[in-house]
Amino acid sequence: MAKPLHIKKLSLKQKILKSPHLLTLLKGSGVFVKNYESGEAIPNTIWKNLGYSDRDMKHDTWLQVVHPEDLEKTKNFHERLVKGENDLWEGEYRIRARSGEYHTIRHRAIVLERSEQKTPQLYIGWDVDITDLVLQLETAKKQLDHYRQLLQRSEEIRNAATILSTTLDPYEAAEQMIYQASRILTFDAATVRVLEDDEVILLAASGFQSGVDPACIPNLLLHSFIKPDPTPKVFAPASGPYRHILGVPIIKRNKLIGCIEFYSKKEDCFTKDQIGNALLFAEQAGVAFANALRHRISEQEAATDWLTGLPTRRSFHARINRFLLENRPDETFALLLIDIDHLKHINDNYGHLFGDTVLVAIAGACKEAFRTQDISCRYGGEEILVVLPGADEKIALAVAERIRDHIQHLHFDENPEVAVTVSIGIHCTTIQTDIREAIACADEALYRAKESGRNRCILYN
Ligand code: GH3
Ligand code: MG
Ligand code: MG
Repeated sequence: MAKPLHIKKLSLKQKILKSPHLLTLLKGSGVFVKNYESGEAIPNTIWKNLGYSDRDMKHDTWLQVVHPEDLEKTKNFHERLVKGENDLWEGEYRIRARSGEYHTIRHRAIVLERSEQKTPQLYIGWDVDITDLVLQLETAKKQLDHYRQLLQRSEEIRNAATILSTTLDPYEAAEQMIYQASRILTFDAATVRVLEDDEVILLAASGFQSGVDPACIPNLLLHSFIKPDPTPKVFAPASGPYRHILGVPIIKRNKLIGCIEFYSKKEDCFTKDQIGNALLFAEQAGVAFANALRHRISEQEAATDWLTGLPTRRSFHARINRFLLENRPDETFALLLIDIDHLKHINDNYGHLFGDTVLVAIAGACKEAFRTQDISCRYGGEEILVVLPGADEKIALAVAERIRDHIQHLHFDENPEVAVTVSIGIHCTTIQTDIREAIACADEALYRAKESGRNRCILYN
């Protein structure tokens, strides 16, 4: 009689728990099977990897190595499962390995069979050590945050540069540049310097403590950019309140136009990130800044007569209007209208080019006699107009005489026999008078000077 197969009498639960092959099959997979009633188990190999034996895992000792932050929720889940309130458990928690470091475990388990007292008799689950995955995720998150910050920073820098492009005055643009930079970078003080005909000009300075004159700080940095190395530089001054100076070149179309310097009292203020931001800002803002500089040159060119270097009539009117607005109505001023005598004759006999030379020499003699507050221009072809603020008839006549006398002694190497003279019409009045009327009076006086023989100064009254 055939022996009955004993194995057939085993329940599925017993088969699973007793099978030595299954144990081999599940080795290293993180799968575990447990009977809470009998204590039989196919232990979880993940635990072995963490340095714990099967014994360590009995009687819930494993809860002692769950991360304190994850303990409550893990305990709750486990309890509900054991009590029969829940058959399914899916979650993550951190376990302290025997060596001390924490591992993140993804736990998935199900109760397939319970006793009458609800104790799990067939509890099957699967643990995966996802520590590396979590780490990778954290690193990726950090990287994403970093890129987000970079993006935000570059947006801020772009906005700052856009605001700058609305300014066309270089001094205002330089001040704006420092202000906009302060929203992006950390520094205590800053300067903006530009190169004009190889000369360094300080356009703006901000944040300097009293007693420090930024104009007196040697700008070693700008000079270092003139050499073919226009990269930002950090310089540590030997003395003074500032520990570090970060210099960033302002470049447009490969041409160095200036430099922005950031001063810090703190050690290590200019990190690699800060330097990168400063460079990006200088690149973006540099374009707007260069435009402001270019605009000023264009304005200067438009305001200056190319031949004589005197202001143009247009810029004269702009300045005179400001003068009239800014002074009291009873403020006096003198008007001198200077006209070259017989220039047409000089042109006809010595050529127009020599006529130009005469005109330039006379303009030069006039400029020498004018003070900075005087408002002058090349008024017509060979007429020069000047307003002498505050001057009375006596002063005006003295100035006019000095100019007239100087001009009659001018010497021209190419035509030494030529002696040129000027006639000058003078009118003294107050701000109340219409400027066109005042000029007409000076013109009238000039006419009389011509009429009465030229090379003379005549007062309107
Ligand atoms: P006067 O003023 O003494 O009456 O004689 P003038 O020959 O100077 O006559 P007027 O002032 O009326 O004429 C101006 C002359 O100046 C005519 C013009 O050829 C000359 N002129 C005006 N602008 C220039 C210039 O830019 N260069 C030269 N070379 N000549 C000029
Ligand atoms: Mg004339
Ligand atoms: Mg003339």
